[in-house]
Amino acid sequence: MSQTTEIIKQAKAEGRKVLLEPEAKAVCAEYGIPVTKSLLAKTEKEASAMAQQIGFPVVLKIVSPDIIHKTEAGGVFVNLKTAADVVAGYRKIVENAAKYKADAKILGVLVAEMAPQATEVIVGGLKDPQFGQTVMFGLGGIFVELLKDVNFRVAPLSEQDARDMITQLKAYPLLVGYRKTPPADIDALVSIICNTSRLIMEHSEIKELDLNPIMAYPKGAKTVDARIILE
Ligand code: ADP
Ligand code: MG
Repeated sequence: MSQTTEIIKQAKAEGRKVLLEPEAKAVCAEYGIPVTKSLLAKTEKEASAMAQQIGFPVVLKIVSPDIIHKTEAGGVFVNLKTAADVVAGYRKIVENAAKYKADAKILGVLVAEMAPQATEVIVGGLKDPQFGQTVMFGLGGIFVELLKDVNFRVAPLSEQDARDMITQLKAYPLLVGYRKTPPADIDALVSIICNTSRLIMEHSEIKELDLNPIMAYPKGAKTVDARIILE
């Protein structure tokens, strides 16, 4: 059985509709979607050892089936540079989570490699009631929230479909490189879009998928946060 099938089966067995971030990232990795390196720590000591292993700076994130929007819960600390920062960060995250939702089940804290800043893009997947599995692409932040500059295609997508949905964005010139913004690796983004299409077509129990953000580099790209919701 594929790891993805296994992960989905496990979530269902536990009555969960939302995959945990490490699960969603394992699914992405199996489908060739690049993700930040990360390890799940259950104690602050473990977190500190994992941070050493991954290499500083690191990011810490709450892992709880009861917390979907981690930032909102004070559950994301970025750019931690020392073991002492990690220990203090771990404590604070667990404390914030308990304040946010007293009965939240806390599974641990994800220790992740810190992805350097870059142009942020988003890939989404959803099941449209009329068209079925659909893939979305856009730039992060104000581009999607304020300007609604996003494109949709019905899956399965061809490589050309993926390329078109990138080049047809109003903000496309930013991805080519503009003033201080370096160019993004378009082929790497095409590959992520096509792999997302393949993933949601092969696993029709996925109701929603959200890779937000993906850091788009001049060479390569990296998914920093992945959310997968099952039917
Ligand atoms: P959520 O969307 O649940 O609040 P995210 O994992 O998206 O949580 O984290 C919030 C923000 O923190 C991201 O949008 C990104 O800007 C930053 N961030 C998170 N993880 C990393 C990472 N590994 N490297 C760099 N920045 C990160
Ligand atoms: Mg996010």
